[in-house]
Amino acid sequence: MHIVHVAVEMAPIAKVGGLGDVVTSLSRAVVDLGHNVDIILPKYDCLNLSNVKNLQFHRSYSWGGTEIKVWTGKVEGLTVYFLEPQNGLFWKGCIYGCGNDGERFGFFCHAALEFLLQSGVHPDILHCHDWSSAPVAWLFKDHYMHYGLSKTRVVFTIHNLEFGAHLIGKAIQFSDKATTVSHTYSKEVSGNTAISPHLHKFHGIVNGIDPDIWDPYNDKVIPVCYTSENVVDGKRAAKEALQRRLGLDLSDKPLVGIITRLTFQKGIHLIKHAIGRTLDRGGQVVLLGSAPDPRIQNDFVDIANHLHNARAKSARLCLAYDEPLSHLIYAGADIILVPSIFEPCGLTQLIAMRYGSIPVVRKTGGLYDTVFDVDHDKERAQAIGLEPNGFSFDGADSAGVDYALNRAITAWYDNRDWFNSLCKQVMEQDWSWNRPALDYIELYYAARK
Ligand code: ADP
Repeated sequence: MHIVHVAVEMAPIAKVGGLGDVVTSLSRAVVDLGHNVDIILPKYDCLNLSNVKNLQFHRSYSWGGTEIKVWTGKVEGLTVYFLEPQNGLFWKGCIYGCGNDGERFGFFCHAALEFLLQSGVHPDILHCHDWSSAPVAWLFKDHYMHYGLSKTRVVFTIHNLEFGAHLIGKAIQFSDKATTVSHTYSKEVSGNTAISPHLHKFHGIVNGIDPDIWDPYNDKVIPVCYTSENVVDGKRAAKEALQRRLGLDLSDKPLVGIITRLTFQKGIHLIKHAIGRTLDRGGQVVLLGSAPDPRIQNDFVDIANHLHNARAKSARLCLAYDEPLSHLIYAGADIILVPSIFEPCGLTQLIAMRYGSIPVVRKTGGLYDTVFDVDHDKERAQAIGLEPNGFSFDGADSAGVDYALNRAITAWYDNRDWFNSLCKQVMEQDWSWNRPALDYIELYYAARK
């Protein structure tokens, strides 16, 4: 099968969040299963070009009153077509937040279809993602389907219904199949008016992570490579490197890591509470967070300043987007906290487990589907062939987060051997795309029937 993704994010060259990870890692897994996958992406001026191999000019064409230059290159082994409209729509220094994102991405979707048509490329599947490439679905069914692309089918994936629900509803209407990124989130949103008319073609498939990109045995950022066999030594070395880098006390304390966009969705009030709770219990906290809203950013700058004065050697808030540092935190933390208010899938808990860190999460969406509480979820885990792998809580208040975090920290202090064996066990669980990629391929075939 030939699958073409039309997407506005792609890790590691244009990543804002999980959408970028999924485009790259799902594509790589589907290629590994013998299919042909290409990606069409805007050529932003802020692309991380050091991760693009063999970038070269491919062709140019005219559409929408401008010339569009097309470049090709390899990203993580995948063929990417970069569209660069000469009207400067993607020369803004950012991926989102340019004020006219709807116009920019609408133009991009149209230009992508025009590129396929003018190049004579007829993919079996066009896979589009979220509101930003939703227009592909209806532009295709309204127009391009009738001009040579009649054998192509459209699959649409919702990574987050929070943004552009009306565009998402319209995209599902015109798609042959629609998915979202976990079973529980698919149930949680099934009553939404954007989704409810289309439940017959709507499926939940839990995301995976790319085990080559997230691999503590082969990670240039961490000091000692490790597998589950030497997880304790590997994580001890990573913790010390992290503490040194951030100026934290070098003693062995339970270290809680938080890696997140700082938005309402991610449970900001619970994050703030958990920082205080961890410090009160003698632990250390490292937060790596990027806040698109300046008010939230300022709020965390205040907390960081306060902590710097009061608890300098125990807490560090890094208010930035920093991919290499994220690797060191995943490896060096004992616990990774994900207290989201809602979470379509969540990748941080999966990456945490790959690095032998124990997830502490709120039971919602994909967090519920992937984290099984050691005290409460043995049966639910074993029903899918797993052992419990973390700590979870229900409520969206401080008592909830305390309940799960306290149990994790207490286990670290009082039962280290057991805690270490849990680290080993979570590392051995398979959260790669092995299973979900097969589900997507089955879905692609079903779309073509
Ligand atoms: P979302 O897509 O809602 O942001 P996900 O859990 O699906 O959340 O994906 C988040 C991805 O972004 C993970 O790969 C995580 O490591 C990464 N990430 C989030 N915040 C940062 C940050 N400040 N610096 C580096 N990586 C980050």
